[in-house]
Amino acid sequence: MTTNHRIALIPGDGIGAEVLPPARQVLDVLGHRHGFSLSYTSYDWSCERYLREGAMMPADGLDQLRDKDAILLGAVGYPGVPDHVSLWGLLIPIRRSFRQYVNLRPIRVFEGVDSPVRGARPGAVDMVVVRENAEGEYSAIGGRLNQGTAEELAVQEAVFTRAGVTRIADYAFSLAARRRGRLTSATKSNGIIHTMPFWDELIAERAAGHPGVTWDQELIDALAAKFVLDPARFDVVVASNLFGDILSDLAAAVAGSIGIAPSANLNPERDFPSMFEPVHGSAPDIAGKGIANPLGAIWSAAMMLDHLGHPAAAKDITDAIASILAKSDTRTRDLGGTATTAEFTDRLIELL
Ligand code: ATP
Ligand code: MG
Repeated sequence: MTTNHRIALIPGDGIGAEVLPPARQVLDVLGHRHGFSLSYTSYDWSCERYLREGAMMPADGLDQLRDKDAILLGAVGYPGVPDHVSLWGLLIPIRRSFRQYVNLRPIRVFEGVDSPVRGARPGAVDMVVVRENAEGEYSAIGGRLNQGTAEELAVQEAVFTRAGVTRIADYAFSLAARRRGRLTSATKSNGIIHTMPFWDELIAERAAGHPGVTWDQELIDALAAKFVLDPARFDVVVASNLFGDILSDLAAAVAGSIGIAPSANLNPERDFPSMFEPVHGSAPDIAGKGIANPLGAIWSAAMMLDHLGHPAAAKDITDAIASILAKSDTRTRDLGGTATTAEFTDRLIELL
């Protein structure tokens, strides 16, 4: 029997709408081969909709997504629309309502892609940054006093809960156990003396339940340096919301092009849909030209298949990505080629 998955497609703005159709083409090829089908519902939720109708999505938007098995998003962002509109009008409501507390960002330096980092030998770097996506440093607690005076001050609180750190630690240890069995925890307990020691204690506590995983912790400053000097040493890296945000962008830069990097906002319990999206934004500078690199969206679609229970199909995609980059000179402009999005996608589908 063929399993059907209901997918919400949110192309968004700019190149978001150019990279989702290639992802869908690839998904359809794999469905035939691996015996599943996908049915799609498309939503025009975007900054363009915000400019037209005053909201990124309709008032019952979250209800429309709730019964879907996954959400595939292109990118949102439009010149003149501030980032907080797309963040608070769409992305954060989806992440919070659907308890997507894991932000997953795999990083690989593929053969055939130039990394700006000398230590990043092609083929050797293969890691995942697990970012805590729901609490930590990004809290709304705090405020400003005495504005405009010499005594002006601002306070911003970070909130870490036992439940929140425990669940991200468990996710990261389990992921490491399924990979190469190594976990690094990002900390700063020498300088941040309340929340970070708590984070460290809870990571150590959860380590006891995963004896097969070798783990250590690194101060965030030293860890950032090692991402650049020796990225091949890492397997899974777990980090708080702020540290994970910084590390995952750093790691994506090490990998060579932001056009390749994928991400997942996961609800591991699967009681709500998870959301998959390329790391890049709407790229207004190249939007409408048909030259965007679709690999970030296609790799995100692979992560979606993995989450939906089709790891072999997901691996077919990542193998095809590795192969097109290593063996073919068809590539988009961001990787030094001349292929359009459509030409590149056709070649990738041939390789599949
Ligand atoms: P947003 O506000 O939506 O985040 P942005 O311009 O700030 O948009 P990106 O959209 O990520 O950020 O673009 C950063 C740079 O990377 C731009 O020069 C863009 O053209 C380039 N870029 C991003 N994604 C791709 C892609 N898929 N293919 C090719 N180039 C890309
Ligand atoms: Mg941006």
